[in-house]
Amino acid sequence: MTTPSRSVALVVAAALLAGSPLSAGRDDRPGRPALDYKGRRAKNVIFFVGDGMGVSTITATRVYSVGVAGNLVVDQFPHTALSRTYGADAITPDSAPTMTAMMSGVNTNAGVLGLDETTEPLDFNHDGDGRAPWTLLEEAKASGMKVGVISTARITHATPAATYAHINNRDNENAIALQALPGDPTFNDRLGDGIDLLIGGGRQFFVPSTVTDEEGGTGSRSDGRDLRREFQSAGYSYVWNTAGFNALNRASLPVLGLFERGHMEYEYDRPTDSGSEPSLTDMTVKAIELLDGASRKSRKSGGYFLMVESGRIDHAHHEGNAFRALTDTEELDEAIGAAAHMVDLRDTLIIVSADHSHVFNIAGYPLRPKSELPYQVTSNDPGFEAPAGNGILDVVYDLTSGGAVAAAGDRNGVPYTVLGYLNGPGYRGGPRTDPRTDAFPGRGGVVPNGPSHPAYFQESAVPMGSETHAGEEVAIYAVGPGAALVHGTVKNTHIYQVMKAALGLGE
Ligand SMILES: [Zn+2]
Repeated sequence: MTTPSRSVALVVAAALLAGSPLSAGRDDRPGRPALDYKGRRAKNVIFFVGDGMGVSTITATRVYSVGVAGNLVVDQFPHTALSRTYGADAITPDSAPTMTAMMSGVNTNAGVLGLDETTEPLDFNHDGDGRAPWTLLEEAKASGMKVGVISTARITHATPAATYAHINNRDNENAIALQALPGDPTFNDRLGDGIDLLIGGGRQFFVPSTVTDEEGGTGSRSDGRDLRREFQSAGYSYVWNTAGFNALNRASLPVLGLFERGHMEYEYDRPTDSGSEPSLTDMTVKAIELLDGASRKSRKSGGYFLMVESGRIDHAHHEGNAFRALTDTEELDEAIGAAAHMVDLRDTLIIVSADHSHVFNIAGYPLRPKSELPYQVTSNDPGFEAPAGNGILDVVYDLTSGGAVAAAGDRNGVPYTVLGYLNGPGYRGGPRTDPRTDAFPGRGGVVPNGPSHPAYFQESAVPMGSETHAGEEVAIYAVGPGAALVHGTVKNTHIYQVMKAALGLGE
C-alpha cells in the first residue's frame, strides 16, 4: 500500500531541488537510510526539546517576552522545518513515541519507549516486544563521546527516558531508573560505563518507599533499593540542591542530580523551592562546561551529545495555566541562548524542537499596545495603555469604528481572553463573565484578579481535568554543522537522521 500524496510531481521536484533523497510513501519506516551529508561535521550536538511547545506556544511566548515584532533566540536560528508528530498508532501522540522517533529514527506506539512499532503498550497481546533501535545517545556514547541528559521533569519521564531506556510502558519509572544504573542486571549496556551526566527531577524513583528524602518527600521504590547510594557506588557524584550543583566540576563526572521528589519547579515557582534548585539555563551551562571539558581531556576527544528538555511547558498547558507555559518557554529560550553563546557554532549543532503541540490558541483580533500602533487612537480603556504581557495575557482589545479602543465581546458582549484552550480545567460552565472580574478559581485554588495573574486558568470549551495535546506539526530550529539538513515538512524521525548525519555516526 502506498500512502497517498497530493501532486506527486511536485513532491518529486521539491525533493530533487532540496538535494535530499526521495523517500516515497510512508516516511516513518524503520531503517530509513541516513541523509546524504557532505558538509562540515559536528563535533558536538545539543538537542533541546520543549515538551508540548507547539507553534502557538512559541508565538505567545514571543509576544509576552519580547513583543510581537521581537525575536526570541530560536527566531534567529537560520534553519527551520515543520515536524510531523503522529505516532504509529495515533494521530495525536504522547511524548513516548515522539521522543523515541526523534532519538532513534523509529516511530512507535503510544506509551512505548525505545521499542519499535511491533511493540504494544504493556505488551497487551503477550506476543513479546519488538526491536530496540539504538538511540542517538547510545550511538554517541559507543563512539567515544560524552553524553548528558537534562530535564525539568522527572529524569525517568518519557522524554528524557527515551534517550537511554527501552520499555513498553513509560509509566514504569522504577524500572527505567535501573536501566541507567551501571552494574544493575537490567542496566542498558549500550551506555558503556553509563550516562556521564543525568540531572533533573524524579528523586522518588531512586528512593525506597520507606525512606524520607532530603526535602521531606517519600520514595516510590517498593524494592527497598536506594539508587542514590547505588549510583554513588558505581562512581557517580550525587547532588540534590543548588549548593551541591554549584560545587560540581569536571572531576565530578559522572553526575546524578535529582533536585525534586517529582518534577522540578516551574521557573516562576523556583525561588520558593524548599531545597532550592538550579534553573534550566544553570543546568545547561554547567552541563556544557563539564561535558566539553571532559571530552577535550579524554584521549578519544570525541565531543559530546547533550539532550536538554524543558519538560513542564507541557504540564502547565495540561493544567490550563498559560502563564507558566509561557514563562517556562521563555526560560528554555534563555537556555538555548546561553548554549549558543558558549559553544563554537562551527563545531556544534544546536537543534530545537517539540514532541507535540497542545490545544492552545491565540484568539480574536487583539491590537498591539498603543505605543506600537502606527496611528492615533482614542482610548477610554485604561487597560489598553499597557495590556498585560504585551497584550497576550489580557482580554482582547479591539478598535471600534470610531477609532476608540474597547474590550471586544462575545456574541453577548462579554469580553474574552486572547489565550485559550479547546479543552481542559478552565471550563467555566454557565453564562460567561468578564475574565477581568471572573471568580473562577485558578491554580492552587487561588481566585485570580484577572487573566494576567499567575494562577489564572484560561477558559476552555470542553470540560476536562487535564487539557490535551494537539496533532498539528511543530517547528524544528537549527544552527551549526548539519543544520542545513533541517528544511521542508518532515517526520519527526528526521531529527535523528540530521543529528546522526551531522556527527558522521554509523559511517
Ligand atoms: Zn503532555
